[in-house]
Amino acid sequence: MPLVRYRKVVILGYRSVGKTSLAHQFVEGEFSEGYDPTVENTYSKIVTLGKDEFHLHLVDTAGQDEYSILPYSFIIGVHGYVLVYSVTSLHSFQVIESLYQKLHEGHGKTRVPVVLVGNKADLSPEREVQAVEGKKLAESWGATFMESSARENQLTQGIFTKVIQEIARVENSYGQE
Ligand code: GDP
Repeated sequence: MPLVRYRKVVILGYRSVGKTSLAHQFVEGEFSEGYDPTVENTYSKIVTLGKDEFHLHLVDTAGQDEYSILPYSFIIGVHGYVLVYSVTSLHSFQVIESLYQKLHEGHGKTRVPVVLVGNKADLSPEREVQAVEGKKLAESWGATFMESSARENQLTQGIFTKVIQEIARVENSYGQE
């Protein structure tokens, strides 16, 4: 029987960037237009990658801003993060930088497995953040960057596959030190 590995992943970002929509699309395979500000929600899904199976425990959070204090439960026992901004909101992108700094400090300035996501890429005419800016920011952390739309199932699945791979990549890099 394959070993099922447990992975806890927290989704963080400013409000209304699409955190809940991405989690919902990933778990339920559908998109809904309505906006329902999340308090905090958790989801579980088994993800198969090649021969490996992962029990992914997702925590969808209420939106943060630059003044938010991240609770310990967002740090302790968390394997990786999906940091989401909306490509239609420069402010949501600026908030991400301060969130990352808090995570990095919370993890004792070690490398944190992160996938940075520029969501709402389907709303291109309203774009305030270029893909190259997201890419540059993720590179400065040694993290992965993707643009997405919670309307698109394939793109959304890709985010959560990526974060599992990113966790493995960071774990393996420690093994080699
Ligand atoms: P959260 O507060 O970050 O969890 O944001 P929600 O998931 O509740 O989304 C906020 C609003 O943006 C809702 O009306 C969603 O339908 C909409 N939304 C979320 N993701 C996308 C996306 O990728 N494209 C478009 N066009 N709308 C989106």
